[in-house]
Amino acid sequence: MEKSKIELQNISKSYYSEAAVTQALRKVSLTFVHGEFVAITGESGSGKSTLLNIIGGMDSFDEGEMIVNGQPTFQYTEEGWEAYRRNQIGYVFQDYSLIGHYTALDNITGALLIMGKDKEEAQKTAMEYLKKVGLEGYEKHPATELSSGQKQRLSIARALAKNTGIIIADEPTGNLDSETGRQIVELLKELSKESLVLMVTHNYSQAAPYVTRKIRLHEGTIVSDITEN
Ligand code: ADP
Repeated sequence: MEKSKIELQNISKSYYSEAAVTQALRKVSLTFVHGEFVAITGESGSGKSTLLNIIGGMDSFDEGEMIVNGQPTFQYTEEGWEAYRRNQIGYVFQDYSLIGHYTALDNITGALLIMGKDKEEAQKTAMEYLKKVGLEGYEKHPATELSSGQKQRLSIARALAKNTGIIIADEPTGNLDSETGRQIVELLKELSKESLVLMVTHNYSQAAPYVTRKIRLHEGTIVSDITEN
């Protein structure tokens, strides 16, 4: 896998409604590289989710350019974005976004089959990543029967198994108790050594011992960007 790199150049984004125009991001320029574990912080409404959603190809941007692994994205068509979401990004959400009645194994193989992997290869890869996140032995459990922490581990395994090199995580510990949340952040830290992990968090103190970089947003602009170690 190539070493991931994301370059944002003067990215701006507004939301329009009948009543108002909200500028969610104002000329944001950032570069992220392989090996980083980045916490994106800031008060509610500062633009964190908008930033992560743009990087994840789930939201569009109005101005600027986003270059992912050397590939400019501004001109992507809807099909281009679909391929981008399928092949370039692994997603971890606060609510896990698992298919509850599927087994742990099938939650991962399902994502891999969509990417065009054959069944045998998908199952082998899925087992490998279940093991990596500490869920060996749970492959036949329906997702609904897992604990909250296990659900989040499963969603991380699914994101990793795509082998995209870029993981985005939106409040991944938001539904977890503090010790389980800490373990999830620790796992993401471990994984960031061989990928690029971007995480939106309300709970910076929980993430602080693990992240390599802290970015703080305020009213759609970057007010601080500190590399920790
Ligand atoms: P954060 O994640 O930091 O809470 P967001 O990125 O969700 O911030 O939101 C940034 C700003 O954009 C806020 O003022 C929010 O109200 C606005 N916003 C976000 N999403 C939408 C949307 N779909 N429609 C209109 N306004 C939005």
